[in-house]
Amino acid sequence: MRLDGTVALVTGASSGIGEAAAVALAHQGAAVAAVARRRERLEDLAARIGKDGGRVLVIEADVTDEAQARAAVERTASELGRIDTLVNNAGVMLLGPAQDAPVSEWQRMVEVNVLGLLYCAHAALPHLIRAADDGPRYVADMVNVSSVAGRIARSGSGVYNLTKHGVGAFSEALRQEVTRKHVRISLVEPGAVETELAGHNRPEVLEGIRSTFGDVERMQPEDIADAIAYIVTRPRHVAINEVLIRPTEQE
Ligand code: NDP
Repeated sequence: MRLDGTVALVTGASSGIGEAAAVALAHQGAAVAAVARRRERLEDLAARIGKDGGRVLVIEADVTDEAQARAAVERTASELGRIDTLVNNAGVMLLGPAQDAPVSEWQRMVEVNVLGLLYCAHAALPHLIRAADDGPRYVADMVNVSSVAGRIARSGSGVYNLTKHGVGAFSEALRQEVTRKHVRISLVEPGAVETELAGHNRPEVLEGIRSTFGDVERMQPEDIADAIAYIVTRPRHVAINEVLIRPTEQE
């Protein structure tokens, strides 16, 4: 099913996977609300999608602020008319051993990866339920971006693992709650993707990440956007609950 006549809200659309997902969903015909803090990046994206005939609503918002997250959702519904798809993608990954880790890094991960996702999910849910009840597709989607780190915990990644395992647990519980209403909850779990994500780490941690992944050919954001587009374009009776995608060379 194409997405013509539908509206998608993508968090973390100013770079990486979220930016590629916004392009992919617009390409399928969705009007897209692009949410993140860096307005200029969102405006560049909107101009690019606009050139191809797509429609983007730029929303500058910090999803860790409940009021801003809720306002982003409500503005999408009021200015674009509805919400059929929510891609909960905004995230941060700050790695390193627990001992001596700056607790502020843990707080940021919990705030963005868990609370930000929950605020957006909570605010969007009534709109998704309404969209599933009233065409054009009679189905709605929430795609939550987790990680391989949401399936397998590793030393040096404990709090990131905690947040992404939490995203997986919440997604499965919510799936059971709303699937009869034709709101599909999906979990996408990427391995290493070439984005800005790792660049926010302390230099010594970044060095460790570089040596772990070394010469592994990373995926591109478009590889994950492809999976997201696949999930949300399935026929109404098909729900893709979970997709784990690794670079072929990642062990
Ligand atoms: P990027 O760093 O390129 O993108 C992260 C996005 O999140 C940016 O658009 C950023 O926008 C946004 N963001 C961060 N904090 C906030 C906030 N407080 N409010 C609103 N938006 C925010 O990384 P990726 O594209 O790689 O990451 C996207 C998702 O994919 C994350 O959830 C990540 O955990 C997950 N992932 C990534 C993998 C990888 O290897 N890259 C592997 C597995 C999962 P801005 O700064 O403008 O606010």
